[in-house]
Amino acid sequence: MNPASPPQTIAIVGAGFSGTLVAAHLLSRAKAPLTIHLIERERSRFARGVAYSTTEDCHLLNVPAGNMSAYPDDREHFLRWAQARVAELLDCACVSEVTAAAYLPRRAYGDYIAEVLDEAERGAAPGVGLERRIDEVASLKVEEGGVGLRLASGTQLRADRVVLALGNFRPGDPSGADAAFYRSARYRGDPWGPDVLERLLPTESCLLVGSGLTMVDWAITLNQAGYRGAIHVVSRRGLWPQRHKPGAPAAFGIEPSGQVGAVRDGLHSIRAFIRNTGADWRSVIDALRPVTQTLWKSLGLPEQRRFLRHLRTFWDCHRHRLAPGIAARLAAMRDSGQLVRHVGRIRSFREVGGQVEVTIRPRGSDQSYVFNVDTVVNCSGSESDYRRLDSTLVKDLLGQRLIRPDPLALGLDVADNGALIDADGVASAFLFTLGPPQKGRLWETTAVPEIRGQAARLAAELLKSDHSECSEESSQSVME
Ligand SMILES: Cc1cc2nc3c(=O)[nH]c(=O)nc-3n(C[C@H](O)[C@H](O)[C@H](O)COP(=O)(O)OP(=O)(O)OC[C@H]3O[C@@H](n4cnc5c(N)ncnc54)[C@H](O)[C@@H]3O)c2cc1C
Repeated sequence: MNPASPPQTIAIVGAGFSGTLVAAHLLSRAKAPLTIHLIERERSRFARGVAYSTTEDCHLLNVPAGNMSAYPDDREHFLRWAQARVAELLDCACVSEVTAAAYLPRRAYGDYIAEVLDEAERGAAPGVGLERRIDEVASLKVEEGGVGLRLASGTQLRADRVVLALGNFRPGDPSGADAAFYRSARYRGDPWGPDVLERLLPTESCLLVGSGLTMVDWAITLNQAGYRGAIHVVSRRGLWPQRHKPGAPAAFGIEPSGQVGAVRDGLHSIRAFIRNTGADWRSVIDALRPVTQTLWKSLGLPEQRRFLRHLRTFWDCHRHRLAPGIAARLAAMRDSGQLVRHVGRIRSFREVGGQVEVTIRPRGSDQSYVFNVDTVVNCSGSESDYRRLDSTLVKDLLGQRLIRPDPLALGLDVADNGALIDADGVASAFLFTLGPPQKGRLWETTAVPEIRGQAARLAAELLKSDHSECSEESSQSVME
């Protein structure tokens, strides 16, 4: 197919929230015959992805139900879905209400996405169909007028356009040990992998590396499962996610200046606003949410680097907050002494006498200290540097120069219309992406409130007959 013809086959690699929502929008919008291949390598993640395939009821959404609709133009869609299942949801251990302000189980949200897809499939126009495939896409080949896909099973497919909805990858290994340690049964490198809980429960102590939301998932899961051992948590700055508190966004804004020092000036104006008005800091962060992408893009690379160096962890723990019930439970675990906080760098891991000896250098000190744990779980957050990913497909695409990392190595280089940019700087007419791989370009692009709009706009873009007709102005709005 020529990019000037309407597509007859679209392949979507990855059936997490991003890929599934693109498929649902394609099914709803396409009026001419179209086959959509939705390909997911892990059965349990189909239409759920990493975040919503958990089976733990106490892994809660960190966004209130009222803002978790899959559809940007129907904000109450998820809430209605949940309220039609109140009794079932109230049966879950960590749910006390099903309102717009409630933080509901991510497992239930996975059921919701799966139903969104089923519903779109049932309502598709004649000739528009979905092929669900459990398989890994191992390589792609851009051919005359389309793309050939080779799957790990040996199946070959051809598509006119391909969406790489690859999402979150397992964290990179922390430094401090030789390669053998990272293959040891005492080290769990993938916090979202199978059997992690079963392996942890018989142990008397564990170390969670990183203090973000994945650490919180693990601490709460262990607590819920009756784990009585010590849970050590280490992070460089010792910052933990903050708790949500109800409240409206403040009447606060920052003008995108693009000047040198914009990051420092922005921080000063946030602090001054809070000091002068007494506003809760959450309402100030929330006021910035709708303009964060615009502010990020206005910064330019040197200021973006400055932000990442000095403010990233502060931003993350204030922006990605905890459901109040989860925060209270975590605080109780800390008060009881079960959760032990370490602030500093890991110097080494060493397997000694059936345990792992961990050496930590505390922040601001030259004196290291040592303690032993039974198991180490890497909760340090999704690896975003594509050059370091252990993915056959990503290696293949980098090797063929069909993709390139963005300049900050937070994801991939992506054009305004979602097209992937190759190693020579040319936007593809065939390969597209959305969600987490756009972090370098947009910064805020990993949560449902951002991805749902991107999915709707990318579906419209994919169905266009000719990408070259997409004006600069219209393409600007496609992926934000
Ligand atoms: C633990 C966790 C909790 C979160 N909680 C929230 C929340 O409460 N609220 C919120 O708004 N956001 C939350 N997020 C943000 C989350 O990233 C997004 O909401 C969204 O789920 C991202 O979806 P995705 O489809 O882009 O990525 P993913 O969910 O990572 O899905 C990508 C899929 O692609 C598959 N895949 C990768 N490579 C291949 C291949 N070669 N072949 C076939 N399949 C492949 C993977 O198996 C995976 O299932 C959370 C994220 C995480 C990690």
